[in-house]
Amino acid sequence: MKRLTAVARGKRYTMLRRRRLSPRYLPVAIAIGVTACIGVPDTRFGQNKVQYDAFDFEILETEHFDIFFYEEEREAAAQAGRMAERWYARLTRLLNHELRGRQPIIYYASHPHFKQTTQIGGAPGEGTGAVTEALKRRIILPFAGPLKETDHVLGHEMVHAFQFDMTQRREGALSNTNFPRALQLPLWFIEGMAEYLSIGPDDPHTAMWIRDAAINDKLPTMRQLNNPRFFPYRFGQAFWAYLAGRFGDEVVGRILNAAARSGGAEIAIERVIGIPVDSVNAEWHEEVRRAYDDLREETHDADHYGKLLLSKENGAGLNTAPVLSPDGTELVFLSIRDVFSLDMFRADAETGKILNKLVESGTDPHFESIQFIRSAGAWNSTGDRFVFGAVTGSDPVLTVVDVSNGDIVREKVLPDLGEVFNPTWSPDGSVIVFSAIVGGFSDLYSYHFENDVLRRLTSDAYTDLHPAWSPDGRSIAFVTDRFGTDLSRLSYGNYQLALMDPGTGRIDAIVSFPDAKNINPQWSKDGRSLYFLADPTGITNVYRLDVGSGRLYQITDLFTGVSGITALSPALTSAKDTDKIAFSVYEKGDYNVYVVDEAGVLAGEPVASSQVGVRKSR
Ligand SMILES: [Zn+2]
Repeated sequence: MKRLTAVARGKRYTMLRRRRLSPRYLPVAIAIGVTACIGVPDTRFGQNKVQYDAFDFEILETEHFDIFFYEEEREAAAQAGRMAERWYARLTRLLNHELRGRQPIIYYASHPHFKQTTQIGGAPGEGTGAVTEALKRRIILPFAGPLKETDHVLGHEMVHAFQFDMTQRREGALSNTNFPRALQLPLWFIEGMAEYLSIGPDDPHTAMWIRDAAINDKLPTMRQLNNPRFFPYRFGQAFWAYLAGRFGDEVVGRILNAAARSGGAEIAIERVIGIPVDSVNAEWHEEVRRAYDDLREETHDADHYGKLLLSKENGAGLNTAPVLSPDGTELVFLSIRDVFSLDMFRADAETGKILNKLVESGTDPHFESIQFIRSAGAWNSTGDRFVFGAVTGSDPVLTVVDVSNGDIVREKVLPDLGEVFNPTWSPDGSVIVFSAIVGGFSDLYSYHFENDVLRRLTSDAYTDLHPAWSPDGRSIAFVTDRFGTDLSRLSYGNYQLALMDPGTGRIDAIVSFPDAKNINPQWSKDGRSLYFLADPTGITNVYRLDVGSGRLYQITDLFTGVSGITALSPALTSAKDTDKIAFSVYEKGDYNVYVVDEAGVLAGEPVASSQVGVRKSR
């Protein structure tokens, strides 16, 4: 039987293909890890038990959903089923709409598995995090690892399912007269709404983008949002947050309904709020500027703290995931020097001069660039090897390269794991500890090179990320949500710092900001301090924890923030044998790397004790 191809459908419903992201989005789109998440469908799928590739799907039926999953993700699928019903209740109320028919959700245990899907007519793009397709309104996605991220991605895609259902006149096959009008609406309208309704108005990552745009006079008007220069997810989310904040959340559904009738975003907004969009634009910009004016005076640019090492001025953009060599003289980092490729380079940490390219992800099919978005690698203690997590084919690998020439000297394929991130090397060089997505959850693993032994260090639904081995080898700092998460209530705790004893596996909470994100711990040379990133003020900055005393110090106080490509991406590094750190900063719509080695700056300013705490509820 000949299958209808996506191209054929594209010819017939040309409007369906508008949703493809233009190459101009790609650098940022790859960066965000979610692109083009509304797809043109394939037609096979939906029997009760579907055999595809190695995935033997079963169906979990909840009140409103058919959740397709396979054995290794059984426990995560049960969690997702409960998340899905909670989203259904929220979105039904917010958008004043009940979905017609049961909603299919097809879950893959990891992104490499997801990339093998044939449900959307061709493999999803490299940067595509998830897809909702229009024909059968199926949500197709991988587990994100961290529960909070899985919950967000599911909520985002479910907004698309509501958008399709609310804007399609009648049920049944798509035709030129019966298709979801959502497919014709601008990306910022559709994706921004999905981000706003799944994240809400309180989002430090998007707020950072908006602050940066405001200070550089780059806030878009609603019409400019149609220009691909403005990333639709972030700016669209911000605009919806403004509309909903000012006129109430219920305008979101009313504007969507109005847009389904009129076919235009601008007309719909004007009809529902009764104000010309030009006035709304001006008032939005004015409010943003007012909110951040004082902050500009109170904060600093990154060059107040250290030296600008890597930026577009001396090479290329999107400089992220910096990792200093043990002696602090060199730095491995990621950059998009070619529009389609996030590559790994080694640079001189004094001058920023590129020494060599270690990995070319875009043109080398051996490596998948999406791994790098959420991950950084690690040097060995002698500074001649670098390890990172990657994907080759559909399997995750730990890859060790010779830094002098980029040659692969060791590679360990880990077919039982989904994705591997953020390896850290034991000081004696024998063991690598890393985080991995397995069965849809994020846990810590160790791999012993000599014995070829893989060991699971944590095994539960809680999130464990960003391991960093202490200089004396006696403990591993990492990030976890286990202290504040209540799985029974689907309540996900903040990312907090913890220490693990690599010998016994014992986990202890250490001081963190209880109401903030605390990520990316990095040890000081003497092993007494942990540098890390936290956003207790709503802005992500570098902090230092004196591990012995539990005292916290603030090292940077930036207007935009220290950031990797996503809010959870590693963006901070410390040298093992010298007092030096480096971090990437989001500024002027790009990511630059700064280096700090001044003792006074590295000491930081004491943080008021009322802001800090340690949570040991679990
Ligand atoms: Zn989307």
